[in-house]
Amino acid sequence: MPFEFQGKHVTVAGLGVSGVPAAKVLHGLGARVTVVNDGADEHARAQAAELEALGITVRLGDGDTLPDGTELIVTAPGWKPTKPLFTAAGQAGVPVWGDVELAWRLRRPDSAPWLAVTGTNGKTTTVQMLASILKAAGLRTAAVGNIGVSLLDAVTGDEEYDVLAVELSSYQLHWAPSLRAHSAAVLNLAPDHLDWHGSMEAYAADKGRIYEGNHVACVYNVADKATEDLVREADVEEGCRAIGFTLGSPAPSQLGVVDGILVDRAFVENRHKNAQELAEVSDVNPPAPHNIANALAAAALARAFGVPAAAVRDGLRAFTPDAHRIAHVADVDGVAYVDDSKATNTHATEASLAAYESIVWIAGGLAKGATFDELVAGAAKRLRGAVLIGADRALIREALTRHAPEVPVVDLDRTDTGAMLQAVQEARRLARPGDTVLLAPACASMDMFTNYNQRGDAFARAVRELGA
Ligand code: ADP
Repeated sequence: MPFEFQGKHVTVAGLGVSGVPAAKVLHGLGARVTVVNDGADEHARAQAAELEALGITVRLGDGDTLPDGTELIVTAPGWKPTKPLFTAAGQAGVPVWGDVELAWRLRRPDSAPWLAVTGTNGKTTTVQMLASILKAAGLRTAAVGNIGVSLLDAVTGDEEYDVLAVELSSYQLHWAPSLRAHSAAVLNLAPDHLDWHGSMEAYAADKGRIYEGNHVACVYNVADKATEDLVREADVEEGCRAIGFTLGSPAPSQLGVVDGILVDRAFVENRHKNAQELAEVSDVNPPAPHNIANALAAAALARAFGVPAAAVRDGLRAFTPDAHRIAHVADVDGVAYVDDSKATNTHATEASLAAYESIVWIAGGLAKGATFDELVAGAAKRLRGAVLIGADRALIREALTRHAPEVPVVDLDRTDTGAMLQAVQEARRLARPGDTVLLAPACASMDMFTNYNQRGDAFARAVRELGA
């Protein structure tokens, strides 16, 4: 039974990118909408004024009190499940939906199926590769979720789609109990956002929800057993298959790599004997190992949807990664300078460091509770040197002292706008021809920059100054 919104008392928890459009859509469907928001700053007041002009009630500065008569909460995905608002909702038997659940419930009966992607790292890249492949197959599609078109727009707007490539975060999945994708992939699972989820088990369980009720394929990472375990635990539609992706040679029901070729042994006739060539490793941009894994996951979802092999190749060739994700900035004096500012956690940085042989590593920022021993120990052999910046750089320095005592380290005790230029100059001094100077900070940027984009831009500017 579709949910009837007419006259329903719906509380939208949180203004912002998902709350404001959700409030408008619900209001348009005849719901009696109240928005509650913790903050009351200027931006919030402006958003509130816009909604109030439509007849929506907004309570600023009080996100914890459940408005009387609430029959449904639609929450911003980032709100923690332990918030008093949700405790009160639980006691009152009020259901809580996130933005994804709302979008799922508002789909038209004949609307486009979802190919969904989650994971600790690589979601955006994979979803964009997937959309590129689907487009190459002539399908009407969009990359939606945290990127591009919003999910709500995609399901309620006028644009018609054949299939959607949907990026989902663990927060969104937590609040999306009835989502049932055509097929879904969990790319990898490493500890992240544990303060929000409460434990690694709870985080994994929320990620695993993406497989619930899948129709055609549950795509997992052969190298990451936790993702396969999630498939095993999922309750899926009859006939839905577990499909692995691997950087090695694929077993039946897997996609993998053989002699530099991406190969499908899952969606072919007689998979015990046959394999289908999809693309060359060099068709993947950049062809770093973790990115080839992303391409295989995207290919698996596309093939589950029936896309021909040639479209996988064409879509991968047409794909260009977003800025600040292993972006090659320039070569100066035989040294490559690479911006992976988006590597804001150790798992992403580990993948990045694995992609180069000899590295001068620029790292540091806000550690968000991370530890660096494993990361540094794993990369020690490939480090020519390290330049450390930002608030928590001592944590990385200590890990380097413990696991890579030979590696020269420059510790920059400044956070002003010139800091990145000095970091790049120091890196240049440490580098030899053939090396890569890699900005892969393993930390968030907000101690020194507005966001990872600004950090990456500062790096690129500094590199250009070197070359000038
Ligand atoms: P997300 O949307 O999950 O944050 P992105 O595609 O934006 O992922 O990539 C984020 C960071 O993770 C980048 O620094 C990138 O180099 C790294 N990364 C991308 N794919 C993977 C992967 N499969 N495994 C580990 N790290 C990855």
